[in-house]
Amino acid sequence: MAEARIAIIGGGISGMSSAIALQRKGIHAEVFEKDKEFIGPDTGLVLSGNAVRAYYIMGLGAQLLEKGLATDRCLLKSDSGAVIAEFDYQAPSHIPNYLFIQRSALYRILTDALLPGTLHFDKHLVDIKWESPIQKLYFKDGTCTEADYLIGCDGAASKIRSILMPDSKLDFSGFVCWRGLIKDPPVNSTTYTETWGPRGRFGIAPMPGNQLYWYAFKKAEQGKSDLSNWTPIDLLFNFFYYHDPIQEILENTTPENLIYDELYELKPLEHFHLGNILLIGDSAHASIPNIGQGASQAAEDAVFLAKWFSTEDTIPNAFKMYERHRHERTKRVKNEMKMYGMAAQIDFPILCSIRNKLLQMAPASYHNEKLRKVIEIDGEFQNDTFGRSSQ
Ligand SMILES: Cc1cc2nc3c(=O)[nH]c(=O)nc-3n(C[C@H](O)[C@H](O)[C@H](O)COP(=O)(O)OP(=O)(O)OC[C@H]3O[C@@H](n4cnc5c(N)ncnc54)[C@H](O)[C@@H]3O)c2cc1C
Repeated sequence: MAEARIAIIGGGISGMSSAIALQRKGIHAEVFEKDKEFIGPDTGLVLSGNAVRAYYIMGLGAQLLEKGLATDRCLLKSDSGAVIAEFDYQAPSHIPNYLFIQRSALYRILTDALLPGTLHFDKHLVDIKWESPIQKLYFKDGTCTEADYLIGCDGAASKIRSILMPDSKLDFSGFVCWRGLIKDPPVNSTTYTETWGPRGRFGIAPMPGNQLYWYAFKKAEQGKSDLSNWTPIDLLFNFFYYHDPIQEILENTTPENLIYDELYELKPLEHFHLGNILLIGDSAHASIPNIGQGASQAAEDAVFLAKWFSTEDTIPNAFKMYERHRHERTKRVKNEMKMYGMAAQIDFPILCSIRNKLLQMAPASYHNEKLRKVIEIDGEFQNDTFGRSSQ
């Protein structure tokens, strides 16, 4: 296995995490990223406990805790500010339930953890040719490389998936999202909160370096709205009656600091691998990002893949194990996220009141059990060592 050449296409969270996990098991893995450097707007990221655990297993827990801000607590609020549910699950592993980190800080931790010379920028994969048993990968810059195995980490709109499974479909989820990161915020928000109301969902998370990260989700019809042109003032009008400090946060967001996205979901795939090619992260299971699970599932994918590389006798068997386990787990998490999203986005005021009452009546153990199912990963890694600081 150690001699096999593994090419990972895509240098996002799943690509880098997979490469690190494999390299720490002595496997030769290289990453090919289409961009010339890490571009894209910097923003906040909510990682949940399963991602933190996965990075601990990889030996990156200390770096993550140093650059991020950890908490166990999340409050769900109604638009008036009343608490409708509280999550404060206490993980037996003492891993925090949530960690807030800047995307750029996570990327830095991951790039620093890769073996030198194994991350190649400006390598936009445009074609694959099979010359059994190897694969020839062609890049836009005219270069070509050979690999024995290929791992597609090229995101929700994956080129590799479109070649492998041309019938796979990325659907508009019916939601759009705005995000903002504020330096020296006017309010001192130390608690992670998500507010649910008829006009959408508003999340507030404290960030390291005296910053505050916020996000807002709203229902939308694809291509039939002018939501992409909204400024912070439009959002202020939309959320005008939501509780404090939502207005102050929007007032302190400049149009240049507003990031807008339409959210897409991948129809569940029947397979995550075909022959010598495997899909990981959003290319395999892109979902609407509820409960901080997109990047978290990608981190889980990486440690499980590396685990089966070390327990199985061949790479095809490791791919099979990955598919068997990850298919089930990602489906379960996706369903939980969907239910959470559906409850969050109820937009008839009377139904919102009923939902809020029901949530308030439910015992804390009910909410914590829901969270536990998503953020606890199997405890099979107790004695596994990928790096320096496994827990
Ligand atoms: C608005 C929004 C908010 C989110 N918030 C959170 C959150 O708070 N917490 C969380 O856990 N998740 C969140 N997510 C989800 C999370 O961002 C993704 O699940 C995660 O980034 C997936 O990582 P990935 O590496 O699989 O894909 P991507 O991040 O899409 O990375 C794919 C990489 O592949 C590269 N690439 C693409 N095509 C090619 C090619 N042909 N050749 C070479 N390289 C290529 C791209 O340039 C990119 O670098 C959010 C998503 C959205 C849209």
